[in-house]
Amino acid sequence: MPITAESYVSAVKLVARDFLTLEKGDAPMQTDAIHGSEYFDEDTGTFIVPIFQTAIFELERNRGLPRKSDRGKDLKYSREENPTVRALEKTLAKIDKGEDALSFSSGMAAISSVFLAFLKSGGEIVIAKEVYGSTLQLALSLKKFGVKVTVAGPDTEQIIESISERVSLVFVETMTNPMLRVLDIPAIIKRCKEVGATIIVDNTFVTPVIYRPLLDGADLVIHSATKYLAGHNDVIAGVIVGPRRLISDILWDWRRLLGCIISPFDAFLVLRGLKTLELRVKKHCENAKAVAEFLNEHPKVSEVLYPGLPDNKYHGIARRLFSNGMYGGVVSFRVKGNMNSVIRVMSALKMIKISPSLGGTESIMTYPIVTGAATMPPEIREELGITEDLLRLSVGLEDVNDIIEDLDRALKAA
Ligand code: PLP
Repeated sequence: MPITAESYVSAVKLVARDFLTLEKGDAPMQTDAIHGSEYFDEDTGTFIVPIFQTAIFELERNRGLPRKSDRGKDLKYSREENPTVRALEKTLAKIDKGEDALSFSSGMAAISSVFLAFLKSGGEIVIAKEVYGSTLQLALSLKKFGVKVTVAGPDTEQIIESISERVSLVFVETMTNPMLRVLDIPAIIKRCKEVGATIIVDNTFVTPVIYRPLLDGADLVIHSATKYLAGHNDVIAGVIVGPRRLISDILWDWRRLLGCIISPFDAFLVLRGLKTLELRVKKHCENAKAVAEFLNEHPKVSEVLYPGLPDNKYHGIARRLFSNGMYGGVVSFRVKGNMNSVIRVMSALKMIKISPSLGGTESIMTYPIVTGAATMPPEIREELGITEDLLRLSVGLEDVNDIIEDLDRALKAA
């Protein structure tokens, strides 16, 4: 039979439709990140998920009822459900091995929603001492609603000791910021199961490429998608992944009520970022390891904190939890001298930017005492070792020799 333009087009459409229904199961992450939310528009042949920049959707004319999204939610108003946002969430659920996911206007919006959804007056939360400063500040502010807040840590043993039968929620970060302590997440999960507490793991610093807490039994995983998931320092976003019973039955409603859904454009950017997540994270880790090894030998550096270094206190647990010899893309270190020495180093950097945040393509130097840890109670900051000589570097994707050269020049000014 001769191939006509028409039969060719209909054959392509057929293949595409079959592909849409393919069940990918345990496909490798890289494939899920690219094909986790297949889209196909019959009229145009578009298969890249578009930005559905629309606030409203038409109701069915005959019945006046809203259409439903694939998870059975009304598709009528973008504060609740939006197709670009939904595509992102399907992909996130696949790569983090959860049943469902939700995306938010920021990591803090995701964390606030979880706290409001799962805590009530008289309840108790155990929160790790060394979490992101604003997360700790938010948790402490819950006291005014009658929630008991127990700040525990910084290490696994102290956190486990604080989890009593009365605790309803436990919040930890897999790898802490800026000291890069690695917690024994499976051991904390085990204790939470014993007492019936819900455990939430902020996996922002580690990413699903390196470790997936849901596979070890965590109830929910949170990411500031502003960091590695989006990956280009151009979007603020947050995500939560977990079982359907928590995501669609409880948190979906809280997101709707709080009005903190991600925008369609930002969802598009995170979805695009995910397509290269694995490649980027591998390279971030490779560069970070080389930078940590360089700093470890540097005469102007008194200490390097990086779990990829064999003599690091957390190397053993990191090796056990993390995949393929990857230890993250952030390196913290102490500069010999005082605050003035640190400021001279920061001022002498040329390529590396002084800025908050991490996980983007650009290398970013952060001075923790004035950024992430600034809102921490000073006594906690001190106890954790977040002192004036400490710098945190989010190692970017530039040529590693250029990163090292910039650091070397700047350290000479210390
Ligand atoms: N969790 C961690 C570990 C973070 O580092 C941050 C921000 O730096 C957040 C949560 C908050 O995320 P966002 O800034 O996207 O609100």
